[in-house]
Amino acid sequence: MNKKFSLYSKFFVTAQTIVILLMGAGLSWYFGYIVYENEKSALINRVYNIATTLDSDTISGLRGDPTDLSNPNYVYLKKKLVDLRNVNTDARFLYVLGYRPAVEKLFFYADSESPDSVDTYSPPGELYNQTTKLEIDNFLRGIAFAENPYSDDWGRWVSASAPIISSETGLPIAMVGIDIDASKLIKDIVLVSLFPFIIAIILAILFFVFHKMRMREKLNELNNVKLEFSSFMSHEIRGFVTKVKGGLRALEHEDFGILTPDQSSYVKDMIVQSDEFAELVEEFLDVGHLEQDIEMSLLMENYNILDILKRVVADIADTLHRKEISIIYEGNIPDKVYCPCDNNKMGRVFSNILLNAAKYSPEKSSIRIGYVDANTSHTIYIKDSGIGIPDSQKESMFKKFFRANNARDIHTSGTGLGLYFSKLIVEKHRGRIWYESVEGNGTTFYISLPKQ
Ligand code: ADP
Repeated sequence: MNKKFSLYSKFFVTAQTIVILLMGAGLSWYFGYIVYENEKSALINRVYNIATTLDSDTISGLRGDPTDLSNPNYVYLKKKLVDLRNVNTDARFLYVLGYRPAVEKLFFYADSESPDSVDTYSPPGELYNQTTKLEIDNFLRGIAFAENPYSDDWGRWVSASAPIISSETGLPIAMVGIDIDASKLIKDIVLVSLFPFIIAIILAILFFVFHKMRMREKLNELNNVKLEFSSFMSHEIRGFVTKVKGGLRALEHEDFGILTPDQSSYVKDMIVQSDEFAELVEEFLDVGHLEQDIEMSLLMENYNILDILKRVVADIADTLHRKEISIIYEGNIPDKVYCPCDNNKMGRVFSNILLNAAKYSPEKSSIRIGYVDANTSHTIYIKDSGIGIPDSQKESMFKKFFRANNARDIHTSGTGLGLYFSKLIVEKHRGRIWYESVEGNGTTFYISLPKQ
């Protein structure tokens, strides 16, 4: 079969969903990146402005060791940093760093911390032990920069630094740094970047639902075509078989002349075969129709189920008569056993079970029908003395198209649909169907329907 590329194929829908989600993820990353970069440059600008408020002469007058503590320049610088921290309320602390080439490390000129806070205060001259190569490079080249967020015992931070340029030499002599709580930055990034991803998820879900609805529509269209085709075919076949049977019956009744015994038996055989053929083809063509019909609705009314059963027995009298099979009603069967059910559908169930009992039983045998009044349900049983069901096949009896080996051996025609439909119908009535059987020793089918 030529498989055409379809907009609704599973592959295409999965691919489209993945593309939508990937685009969402890509946009999320991009939006997050833009927010991150914007906030970083805003922070660099801020620290740059702070750097311009610090006088380089104040710093040139410092030695960068504990003796600075008594230096008025230090006192002035310290106060300036404390004031700046009070203004920049989101700052963890501010500091001014110098560079010590001998140890290739940055050191503190001053910071905004009180000498009492043991954890965070750095006395003048204290080395900044976590100095990175990038920080030294940026210091020496006089470049303002921001670092990626990092975590420590006090929380998550993002740092930015800007150079302080000597008014005498024009070279960087120190660097002012600020540490800011990173949670606002992270929150902004998450909020902004989540937005396109959520839109992508919503789009993917809408797309998926739309696809499902479209598939269902297509399936319904297909089903309708199938049902129309099978209705048409079963109508045509029924018409054809009726005509053939009409002719055969006329032959059987010797309307066209006396038949020899051989001819008569041949004609009888053909009548049976054409009946079986019609039943077989109709069942096959009708599968979809019936499944849909059973699924969709039952015409429930309070019926006497024994009336339905007796009507079916009358309908199949010909078949029973041909095999000289007798029906025996056993036990005390009441006249009226009312329960809510669909007359036609339950008729179909009884007909399937009774025809099977006749089909798989020897000639001149009998089929026993009985009734059990269970508390909340009525149970009808139909018992034959036919071929029975092999233990090994018992599990599959109600499966669609299943036929047991021993049944195939004695009766070549059969669809394996009768029991499948019977179970479907009975269960749709909230009832139960089951059987007991011993291979070679007959089968009893039980059908139980709720009284209410
Ligand atoms: P079909 O009779 O057309 O094959 P059914 O669905 O009615 O299909 O039955 C399925 C199978 O169950 C039959 O092929 C047969 O193997 C088994 N079966 C049903 N009823 C009986 C019975 N009364 N005795 C023995 N086997 C039966």
